Amino acid sequence: MSRYWSSVVNGLTPYVPGEQPKLPDLVKLNTNECPYGPSPRALAALRDAVGDTLRLYPDPNCDSLRESIAAFYKLKPAQVFVGNGSDEVLAHVFLALLKHEQPVLFPDITYSFYPVYCRLYGIECRQVPLTGSFEIRVDDYLTPNGGIVFPNPNAPTGRPLALSEIERLLRANTGSVVVVDEAYVDFGAESAVGLIGRYPQLLVVHTLSKSRSLAGLRVGYALGDTGLIEALCRVKDSFNSYPLNRFALAGAAAAIEDRTYFEQICAKVIATRTRLASELAALGFEVLPSAANFVFARHDRHGGAELAARLRERSIIVRHFNNPPRIAPFLRITVGTDAQCEVLIAALRAILAQNKDLSP
Ligand code: PMP
Repeated sequence: MSRYWSSVVNGLTPYVPGEQPKLPDLVKLNTNECPYGPSPRALAALRDAVGDTLRLYPDPNCDSLRESIAAFYKLKPAQVFVGNGSDEVLAHVFLALLKHEQPVLFPDITYSFYPVYCRLYGIECRQVPLTGSFEIRVDDYLTPNGGIVFPNPNAPTGRPLALSEIERLLRANTGSVVVVDEAYVDFGAESAVGLIGRYPQLLVVHTLSKSRSLAGLRVGYALGDTGLIEALCRVKDSFNSYPLNRFALAGAAAAIEDRTYFEQICAKVIATRTRLASELAALGFEVLPSAANFVFARHDRHGGAELAARLRERSIIVRHFNNPPRIAPFLRITVGTDAQCEVLIAALRAILAQNKDLSP
């Protein structure tokens, strides 16, 4: 605390991102990055962006990238907003569309950045408990609200919500914006993008950090009615006119245009996830059904913190959350390559066997 800080800063509880350790030779399964490199076409576009044009500002409206994204989803560029990672897009969404008299609703177990935005912008929120099996129940959201936001599939559980349920929510909730954060949707959940023309209160948020393997480039986008997109542009142009640099604009467009590569890496991650989930189950883990590039699993005899620490001793990093206490027994494990998942399973097998020897 400093006497020079504003009252806003004094009241913040910043988000804590997963660790990016500097150690070599780690099996890094803690931040849901893609284990495969970006599209070769994206890498070529990034190389081509190195040159004299870097003395010029990038396009503040990001027109060419918005056109590529719109073409991919069969939307109009005016239905696309782009930002510096979906975290920035979400930040603008909270200020532009979710700050109202009534509280914004989101699950009690979800992406932990949502309450952080609420504190930053002074937005009242109400956290709606997931069911006993960690599912979002749409009926629980049918109350007066200033907006609704949830990831689909949810994070860190990985559980998807059926599109029919999202549509039921949209039919019932017309007075406020419904934000579906589809950061992980490409790994097996049903996207709500197809509903955009029919529901002007629907906003879908995506990222290039997961299924396009570009977490380091920082590009995310929102898709929705032109009125919602205009609100986001108003906030963006009151904050930073150039959120995407020339590299991000070039690399992101090329990645979006390379549909074949995108589909290949998603299919590989899904296949590895299926194997990983069954191998974890064979070791005594309960694995929640996942439609994401991670699994959420707990062991019947070992706590999450203990297992995360033991894995770390073997240079394998997974994510563990203490809060809320209901998820403390779980590990969130990013789906890596087949080889990385084999290393993880072998390590868990060894850790569990050691513990068995020690038990009376
Ligand atoms: N939404 C969810 C649910 C996430 O898990 C993440 C990744 N931490 C993000 C959004 C943000 O991703 P990015 O800023 O890399 O686009």
